[in-house]
Amino acid sequence: MNKTLLKELCTIDGISGREHAVREYILDKLNGSSAPKEVTVDALGNVLVHLYGKNEATATVLFDAHMDEVGFMITNINDDGSLCFSTVGGIENEALFGRRVRVGNINGVIGGKPVHQCSAEEKNTVPKAEDMAIDIGATDKHEAEALVAIGQGGTFVSPLCELSNDLFFAKAVDDRIGCAVLLSLAEKQPERDVWLSFSVQEEIGCRGAKVVGESVKPQVAIAIDATTAADIADSTEKTCVCRVGGGPVVSFADRATLYDEELYMRIRSLAEDANIPTQTKTRIAGGNNAAALQRSHTGVKMAAVSLPCRYIHTASCTAAWRDAEALESLILLLAERLTL
Ligand SMILES: [Zn+2]
Repeated sequence: MNKTLLKELCTIDGISGREHAVREYILDKLNGSSAPKEVTVDALGNVLVHLYGKNEATATVLFDAHMDEVGFMITNINDDGSLCFSTVGGIENEALFGRRVRVGNINGVIGGKPVHQCSAEEKNTVPKAEDMAIDIGATDKHEAEALVAIGQGGTFVSPLCELSNDLFFAKAVDDRIGCAVLLSLAEKQPERDVWLSFSVQEEIGCRGAKVVGESVKPQVAIAIDATTAADIADSTEKTCVCRVGGGPVVSFADRATLYDEELYMRIRSLAEDANIPTQTKTRIAGGNNAAALQRSHTGVKMAAVSLPCRYIHTASCTAAWRDAEALESLILLLAERLTL
């Protein structure tokens, strides 16, 4: 795993529908790779790559990762210069108050009523996004309007930081880890043809992947994503879903997709034979682009391989480098073995 690449990818801001900076970065990296390929960008902004193998593949196998991240959009500028916002993607209200954010290149902080002014009832409830506002330091509406615009997107400021025990955290690990793995796959010519998609708008309902499925028409597809690890204090095997450090998560089902059973078993056994640790989810939770891809054109045999991640959809998605390495190794292996 190229740590610098992942650090850079996580630092770029790109909420759903505003992925342009992420796309430019990815296109630049693809340009720098000498592997023979055809790269196209569709009308929604999905980046599609046909990576030419040394031989033709017998099936169209697609590997997908999404470029967008959760964040917010500015919905109004208040008279006092603060900004009203609406969340984009599933961010819980708990994850908002006091966070550093960025709208374009303007820094801000999500603020709200100070605790000593809250009623007893308010102290026991989490303030809602609509009761908070982004403070960019502007003193009135006019000053704020010169810096930001209604409809502009923004996200958390949280560059990648290392933790002990081989862990790290950052914003947007969901799903820049998938983008990093796909870029690694695009670095050299595979044995057989492989298709890659860096898709848009996953966090608001897998909208980009719908279009990808129709245009690539894969027979087999693998969604590479990040998934919730609830392995916090007091969690049990039954409640933790999956664990950070336990290896990439191969899903048999989530809340949106029942995965192809044969493909699920095959991936886990290929991983085992190659000494790559994997785990599965012990709860039916989450969802990803698989939902849209599986039901595209005449139907697609679908798998999902994910990075286990604590505090997903917050400013501090926390994961393990060893899981990221194993995820990358597994995807490189699948690109060789599933195209036979
Ligand atoms: Zn995701």
